[in-house]
Amino acid sequence: MVYLDHNASSTLRACAREVMLGALAEGANASSVHGPGRRARSAVERAREQVARFAGAQGPSVVFTSGATEANALALNGAIAGAAEKGAPIRRVLVSAVEHDSVRATARALADGITVHEVPVDGDGRADIGALRTMLAGEGSALVSVMAANNETGVIQDIAAIGAIIRGAGALFHIDAVQAAGRLPIDFTDWGADYLTLSSHKIGGPQGAGALIVRPDAPLAPRIRGGGQEMRRRAGTENVAAIAGFGAATAAFAENGAEIARLGDMRDAFERALRVIAPETIIFGEGAPRLPNTSNLAIPNLSAETALIALDLDGVAVSSGSACSSGKVTPSHVLAAMGVDKALARSAIRVSFGWSNEDDDYEQAIRSIARLIARRRAA
Ligand code: PMP
Repeated sequence: MVYLDHNASSTLRACAREVMLGALAEGANASSVHGPGRRARSAVERAREQVARFAGAQGPSVVFTSGATEANALALNGAIAGAAEKGAPIRRVLVSAVEHDSVRATARALADGITVHEVPVDGDGRADIGALRTMLAGEGSALVSVMAANNETGVIQDIAAIGAIIRGAGALFHIDAVQAAGRLPIDFTDWGADYLTLSSHKIGGPQGAGALIVRPDAPLAPRIRGGGQEMRRRAGTENVAAIAGFGAATAAFAENGAEIARLGDMRDAFERALRVIAPETIIFGEGAPRLPNTSNLAIPNLSAETALIALDLDGVAVSSGSACSSGKVTPSHVLAAMGVDKALARSAIRVSFGWSNEDDDYEQAIRSIARLIARRRAA
């Protein structure tokens, strides 16, 4: 199988699998005081340091969660509850129009008394910084959530400029860095974020682990209560094996410059080859800086569904450019926000490369697409 769907879930790295098997074999509770418990605790704390180093943060700022969906919910709901407890309630939440549904749906569900605004994006999917500045000039303290890079298109936001405006307005800043992780240098401190979300399974760790990195004095009230785990910020027995695997995956990026460049070369070669066999190809977000591993494209009049099935039969796994959860393909809110025509959006295919791909993989994808185009011409 040629696996080109790393933005959905990347392949598990051997180093992650290895530490997970060790942790699963031990199987103790990280809160237990006996030897096995202490070993589980040290696996969790080692992972905390690894994740912190990876993100340019300090260990104690890392709150482990069940994944990025939970981390995004904790960021928004936890910041709002925490700010209210501190007597400085947040009145407005601003999210970009291309955020992941875990941010958009959480924002939409916020309590009455909080207004939610959507920051528009341009035709390439970059947040409109002028609009953000104007929106922030309004009354009431605000929380802004903007992703570092988009999961569908790979388009990178100008986080430095956005952060400067947010800080200038005295607002809180949450960054969903799930897709940027491992593909762009991430620096929580440099970016001036108050909250930053990571997911293990997008970087070669296991599914079911993630983290919210929280600036030490940023407001945060727990959303899950009970035990005192994660310094009272997220109760529940730690998923030791998954957290250890997450940490190991981040450590694999210690020198990731070459890996990022290799992915970029592969993606660029894929797009060049695609344009040779289908010159009418449209690549979404092409005018903006993009993650080196992501290509969201449409061959006009070739539906994504047809392409996905044909590629799958040829042993090539890609995804539809439309948000696809629970097997239901819905029109992509990301492409809609970029002003992409609905009919064209139905042709959007996302190809996302990762650490386990070799050049032969993109070549196989191109051969499969070429065969599909030839069959359609002959029909
Ligand atoms: N944010 C972004 C940008 C994502 O791509 C995803 C995963 N599709 C998530 C959040 C949710 O991550 P998880 O699967 O860990 O809940």
